[in-house]
Amino acid sequence: MPELSSICIFCGSNAGADPAYLEAAEVVGRGLAQRGVRVVYGGATVGMMGALADAARGAGGEVVGVIPRAIFDREIGHTGLDDLRVVGSMHERKALMAELSDAFIALPGGIGTLEELFEVYTWAQLGIHAKPLGLLDVAGYFQPLVAFLDHAVRERFLRPEMRTLLAVSDGLDDLLAALEASEPVTLLKWIDLDQT
Ligand code: AMP
Repeated sequence: MPELSSICIFCGSNAGADPAYLEAAEVVGRGLAQRGVRVVYGGATVGMMGALADAARGAGGEVVGVIPRAIFDREIGHTGLDDLRVVGSMHERKALMAELSDAFIALPGGIGTLEELFEVYTWAQLGIHAKPLGLLDVAGYFQPLVAFLDHAVRERFLRPEMRTLLAVSDGLDDLLAALEASEPVTLLKWIDLDQT
């Protein structure tokens, strides 16, 4: 069972339309701080990202931000963190966020959030890491994505084991329990897809 003392959160640089999204970012920030779990995130003050970091900090938690120099001004880098790493590129950002974390959670967000999630998801598929990952499905935001992944399984582009590796829950407690119980899966034999 993985011990989760540092969790990477991917989430939107916007707040989204439903107030439930920002509230969820705050619940996650506070909840992880109260459990003594370090938050690793994109280092910005805007949108869901800022709400997450401020809630974690407000509850006495440790927060590490990782932000590329080139977008520091646009996403307004958070200078009130314990640790803000300013890096040279998006690639460095994602590599460092992954290295600093024991697990990954995506909250609602846009294409940046999805890109970050899918990179670590594909890294798990390739065996580059064995860290658990999941979606916090706030107000049903991720249901179309989950439906698409199930469609990809039915169409034999995604192995069922890889689909279930991505935990999905609408509550932080359940999601953390699922991540803690998660077993790594590595699928290097792509061709087996046609044989099953
Ligand atoms: P969004 O979900 O589009 O609001 O973006 C959320 C975060 O993802 C922001 O901090 C973006 O800078 C970040 N992001 C967008 N594209 C990438 C990328 N290719 N690599 C790393 N981070 C990204």
